Amino acid sequence: MNDAFVLGVDLDGVVADHTRRFRDILAEIRGVSPDTYPLERSWDFGEWGLAPGEYAALHRTAVMDYDLFRTMDPIQGATDALWRLSDAGVWIRIITHRLYVNWGHEKAVGDTAAWLDLHRVPYRDLCFLGAKPEAQADVYVDDAPHNVEELRARGNETIVFDQPYNRRCDGPRAHDWAEAEELVHERVARHAGRVELQLPGIDAGSDRLPRHQGHLSQTSATARRTPLSGLDSDP
Ligand SMILES: [Mg+2]
Repeated sequence: MNDAFVLGVDLDGVVADHTRRFRDILAEIRGVSPDTYPLERSWDFGEWGLAPGEYAALHRTAVMDYDLFRTMDPIQGATDALWRLSDAGVWIRIITHRLYVNWGHEKAVGDTAAWLDLHRVPYRDLCFLGAKPEAQADVYVDDAPHNVEELRARGNETIVFDQPYNRRCDGPRAHDWAEAEELVHERVARHAGRVELQLPGIDAGSDRLPRHQGHLSQTSATARRTPLSGLDSDP
């Protein structure tokens, strides 16, 4: 049995910048400027003017012919935050629903693993799951409104990773990875019954001991300058 605190992390729109890379590929396919397709988009890409059913075919082309899953940028701060959480003992379980590309599973799985290696994303499990509530994590971070709703409906604590298409979802909401890290830390502390945590976004804290010692020596210097009241009256 796994006693570790398990963080279920979605990839697209949470760790990997899916919208931007898909936008750039689509612009390349159609020979137009990427600005044609706004990054502030709805879940159904309504702002991009795609015909009904067009998304699936374009997305498949992007994955199979333009290496979409291998060429996305990581979302800023994701990798460092996941490393700090992993170092703190959190079990990182990546949960993604990327097997919607029929007959493209080898490509989808291979490119996903290659991308995770390339960007040094830490993880202990990599799950390709459609039914996310079955992933048995202590807390989830996801951006898809339907995932957030389904996870919560089944009693799973879920942090919404802020994206234009999920603003109607209730919090807790992380606007970036610094906030996500803090929200996860709070839950880890609750889980472990501990409260003392390093502030997220601040590096290893290797100067903690000298700072503490500095504080102590300052305190004793102050004490030396301030005679104890009992000695004050001594002649
Ligand atoms: Mg997602």
